[in-house]
Amino acid sequence: MSIKGSSVNEQIENLVIIGSGPAGYTAAIYAARANLQPLLITGFQAGGIPGGQLMTTTFVENFPGFPDGVMGPELMDLIKAQAIRWGTKTLEADAKSFDLTSKPFKIKADSSEIQTHSLIISTGARANRLSLPKEEMFWSRGISACAICDGATPQFNKEILAVVGGGDSACEEAFYLTKFGSHVHLLVRSDKLRASAAMADRVLNNPLITIHWNTEVIDVEGEEWLKNLKLKNIKTNSQMNLSAKGLFYAIGHTPNTKYFINQLKLDHRGYIVTPPGRPETSIEGVFAAGDVADSEWRQGITAASSGCKAALAAERWLTQNNLAKLIKKENLEPPKSNTTKKIEISNQNNYQQNAIWQKGSYALRRLYHESKIPLLVIFTSTNCGPCHVLKPQIMRVLEDFKGCVQGVEINIEEDQEIAIQAGITGTPTIQLFKNKVLQKQWQGVKQRSEFKNAITEIINSQK
Ligand SMILES: Cc1cc2nc3c(=O)[nH]c(=O)nc-3n(C[C@H](O)[C@H](O)[C@H](O)COP(=O)(O)OP(=O)(O)OC[C@H]3O[C@@H](n4cnc5c(N)ncnc54)[C@H](O)[C@@H]3O)c2cc1C
Repeated sequence: MSIKGSSVNEQIENLVIIGSGPAGYTAAIYAARANLQPLLITGFQAGGIPGGQLMTTTFVENFPGFPDGVMGPELMDLIKAQAIRWGTKTLEADAKSFDLTSKPFKIKADSSEIQTHSLIISTGARANRLSLPKEEMFWSRGISACAICDGATPQFNKEILAVVGGGDSACEEAFYLTKFGSHVHLLVRSDKLRASAAMADRVLNNPLITIHWNTEVIDVEGEEWLKNLKLKNIKTNSQMNLSAKGLFYAIGHTPNTKYFINQLKLDHRGYIVTPPGRPETSIEGVFAAGDVADSEWRQGITAASSGCKAALAAERWLTQNNLAKLIKKENLEPPKSNTTKKIEISNQNNYQQNAIWQKGSYALRRLYHESKIPLLVIFTSTNCGPCHVLKPQIMRVLEDFKGCVQGVEINIEEDQEIAIQAGITGTPTIQLFKNKVLQKQWQGVKQRSEFKNAITEIINSQK
C-alpha cells in the first residue's frame, strides 16, 4: 500500500505512538525515559480530542496518587507534561493513513509521511450516537454527547433534561446535570443499570432524577431548539412524549480502528486483538494499548498500565532487532516541567487595553466597544475538556499575530447573561469580531489554521 499526496520524511523514528490519552502518554513516558525519543501523534478531531476521554470528565476519584481526586483535564495535563519533560516529541494532528505491510511502517499525518520502526496504537474509543431521524437537525441545539462540556449552557438552565444510557457515564452525566437542569430523566433500554454500585446508588437515590426503564428514544422534535422526545417502551411497545430541552448521549463507545481494518487482526466489534494481558498485535513491531484493545476494563489506570507494557515491549523488540537508535540526553535530569499560568479575571483595576489575552465580561465589554483590531472571544465552561484543549491553541494564534488581534475568555457559568446575548449553545464556542460586527463563529475544537486564516482575511481586507 502506498500513501499518496504527502512529503516523505527520510528520518526513521524508533517509535511512533498514536493517541494522547493515558495509554499513549504513559507509553511515551516509558519510551522517552529509555532514550528512544518517541514521536507521539496527539490526534485532533478524529476519534476524540487531544488528551482523550478523560478530557470530557470532571473529577477522577480513582486514579492512584490523588487522594482528593483530580479533574480529568488536569490529570491529562500532568501526564502530558511528564512525557514532554523526558523528551517526547509531539505532533498535533490526526494520523489518517497507515501502511503496515512493509518495514519501516509508514504513517500519514497532516501533510507529512512519517516512517517508524515500531508503532504503538492507543487511539482509544469514541462516543456512539443514536442516529435518530432528526438527530442532525438538533445536534448542538439540544442534543449533546458531552454533558460535562455543554451542561452549563444557558439553554439548559433550570430546564428538563434527559440522558440516554445505563452505564457509569450515563449515571455520572445524569447526576452532573442536576446542577443545572430542573429535573433529569435517565432513559435506560433495559430494566437495570450497568453502572458500578456506588454510581447507581447516587442516581437511584436522587429525587431530581427519574429513571425510565425499558425505554428508547425514537426521535426528537422542536423548532429552533429541541423541545420534545418521542419515547417507546420496548416491553409494551407503547409510545410517549417527554418534553425536554436537552438530550445527552451516554451510550457507549466504538474503538478507533477504522484505519487498521484489513491490516491488523480486529475482533467482531473492531477492538484490536492482542494476547491476554499483552500488547503485541498481529504484526510484529506494532503494539496496542488502552481502550482500543480493551472492551472490558476501559479505565484510565488500565489504559496507562497497558501503555507502560506496550512501551517496554516496543523497547525490547527494537533492541532484539537491532533497530533502536538511542538519543542521548544532554542532562540526565531534565529541567522541571512548566506549570500553567493562571490568568486573573479583568476588572477596572487590572484591565489592560493592549493585552493580547484577558478574561471576563469587563474586558469583553471594553474591548468590544473600544478595540480597533480583530477580537477573538472564546466561550468556555469550567469542566469542559475541549475548552481546555482549545485555549492554548487560541493563545498561540494570538501570540503569532503579535498584538494585531486580541482575545477574551468568557466562562459561561460566571457570565450567563453574556452567553445568552451571544447565543451560545455549547462550549467551546469562538466568535471573531471586528468593529462590533461578528465575522465568524466556530464550535468545538478546530485547527489553529482555521482561526489564522479568518483573522488574516480580516487584516488583509483592511489594507
Ligand atoms: C465521561 C467519562 C468519564 C470517565 N471517568 C473515568 C474515571 O473517573 N476514572 C477512570 O479511570 N476512567 C474513566 N473513564 C475512562 C477513561 O477515560 C478511559 O478508559 C481512558 O481514557 C482510555 O484511555 P486511552 O488512552 O486508551 O484512550 P482515550 O482516552 O480514548 O484517548 C485516545 C486518544 O487517541 C487519539 N486518536 C484517536 N484517533 C486518532 C488518530 N487517527 N490519529 C491520532 N490520534 C488519534 C484521540 O484524540 C485521543 O487523544 C471515563 C470515560 C468517560 C467517557
